[in-house]
Amino acid sequence: MNDSSPAVDPETSAAPESVDPQAPAGPSFDDIALPAALRRAVDELGFTQPSAIQAQAIPPLLEGRDVIGVAQTGTGKTAAFGLPLLAAIDPSLREVQALVLAPTRELAMQVADAIASFATSMGGLDVVALYGGSPYGPQERALARGAQVVVGTPGRVMDHMRRTNLRLDTIRFAVLDEADEMLRMGFAEDVEEILSHSPASRQVALFSATMPSAIQRVAQTHMKDPVRVSVSPQSSTVKSVTQTYAVVPFRHRTGALARVLAVSEAEAAIVFVRTRAAAEEVGSALVARGLIAASISGDVPQKDREKIVERLRDGSLQVLVATDVAARGLDVERIGLVVNFDVPKEAESYVHRIGRTGRAGRTGEALTFIGPHERRALKNIERATKQTLAEAVIPSPRDVSKHRLAAHLKQVPERIERGRLELYRELIGEFVTEHGMDPAELAAALGAMMVGDEGPGTPSEEEEFTQGKLAEKDRQSDRGPRMEPAQTERGYTSYKVGVGHTHGARPPGIVGAITGEGGLTGKDVGKIQIFPNFSLVQIRGSLSSEQMERISRAKVGGRELRIGPDQGPRGGKGPHRDGERPFRRDDRPRRDDRGGRFDGKRRPFRRHEG
Ligand code: AMP
Repeated sequence: MNDSSPAVDPETSAAPESVDPQAPAGPSFDDIALPAALRRAVDELGFTQPSAIQAQAIPPLLEGRDVIGVAQTGTGKTAAFGLPLLAAIDPSLREVQALVLAPTRELAMQVADAIASFATSMGGLDVVALYGGSPYGPQERALARGAQVVVGTPGRVMDHMRRTNLRLDTIRFAVLDEADEMLRMGFAEDVEEILSHSPASRQVALFSATMPSAIQRVAQTHMKDPVRVSVSPQSSTVKSVTQTYAVVPFRHRTGALARVLAVSEAEAAIVFVRTRAAAEEVGSALVARGLIAASISGDVPQKDREKIVERLRDGSLQVLVATDVAARGLDVERIGLVVNFDVPKEAESYVHRIGRTGRAGRTGEALTFIGPHERRALKNIERATKQTLAEAVIPSPRDVSKHRLAAHLKQVPERIERGRLELYRELIGEFVTEHGMDPAELAAALGAMMVGDEGPGTPSEEEEFTQGKLAEKDRQSDRGPRMEPAQTERGYTSYKVGVGHTHGARPPGIVGAITGEGGLTGKDVGKIQIFPNFSLVQIRGSLSSEQMERISRAKVGGRELRIGPDQGPRGGKGPHRDGERPFRRDDRPRRDDRGGRFDGKRRPFRRHEG
């Protein structure tokens, strides 16, 4: 998978659908009569060209027409309705003027954030997101303060209407986002009811990945002579995603998946499964193999779901195993790989799944496992996406070992340069003499041990999983010499600080800030591990809230430390985010002491190669 080249140039794929080979020049925002404040926001967001759905939908919406848009997530549809929606609002009036309905809390939050980002130059404009699973109070207060834009899930919007917190008679603009999904989730009645409470004069925009007849009916009842626009999936997200498939019998899938992840260069991955049970099973199988994985399904409480998504974003989670519903609307740029653990039944679901990668101008990879008798399902997908999927070769255990060893070997010259090897040279010399051993043989054995190869005769990971045994033995062997457990030493507490190597954080800076502000000595600070976006610090004893407050305000690399107890992916226990080999406090800084030991490339799926 490493060798597959991106389908499009990453430079141009930010708005891939806007590139029409027939057109002499692509559409421009200059051709769209956006109010100045919105045009400024577009420029500030770095949108150089409208995407296809934007070029088609924004002009009629600005003219006051209703629009039905067939577009997936990733096509820029949020701006396609968000910009005209803001253009229709009078920010001097403190009343609800626009309503966006979205199927999930996650999507509602994303859309609210996006609209707020378009509205930065519009003074006095407030956006409120209304969704379930959070207290009513803050939502009520935001409505009472006169937020002009409401983005919400149908259920919670109805709740606020019933509680008379929200009246829709001042609505000028209504949007149904991911309408097919809202209907699929059983919100049809709520949506109808909500629309019927808004004035007949309001404008309606409806966006949907598919157009089943139920949506056509909604459109007929609630929209006036709508303009229909669409972008085909293959000209949007799908273009920036390299798609492959592999024939893998079901019982070999977990092993195959673990190996794919082990050699992947992606920063983070999503694995799609059909059922909640499968999500949990595959998730724990990956954790048992030392990957930092978590699973979500439709019935994971929203709060937990959000936390998991946040971890995916900040780099403390490598792999998310999810069902389709749970991953709806998920927009995390770091996802470079989507694996379909089984073939999605519908091509639409396939398109939606792979749309989780290749986001925001990045490229992604999508790999679909099919069974030996599922070629037809593959053909359906190929027909629907008008693309042929190439067959991928699943890495063998040998490939994984090669890959892991290569990563270790790459670090050898630097380690030699740093010195303090006399001890090892001496001990190894003694050992070689004592056993009359060839040093190359010894290096080979150490290499095998480093990558976790126990030699023939030990049950392979694959066999263990084939037999459905997530045995303790497997867990232990997987935690063998490759593992760098971030376990807390006796008497020490693990704290998390909000600076990582992307902010230029280095151990001396962190120690300085903690000792200086916390009134501690260097001896109180134990191991420090630096990750991309945060670091973990072991501190002797525990910090008072006052100490934490002072330390939190200290800055490293221009960013506040924001220290807090490390909750960890598993409640602070057990192996941590070991995807990258973090800095140890006793690692001597490099001579040039600039970029740190990380070369900026993240390799999260490996154990402790840096
Ligand atoms: P959406 O389909 O609305 O979820 O948008 C997908 C991503 O594309 C988001 O990260 C947007 O910020 C980005 N985007 C939207 N419109 C443009 C544009 N015209 N140029 C570049 N990026 C865009």
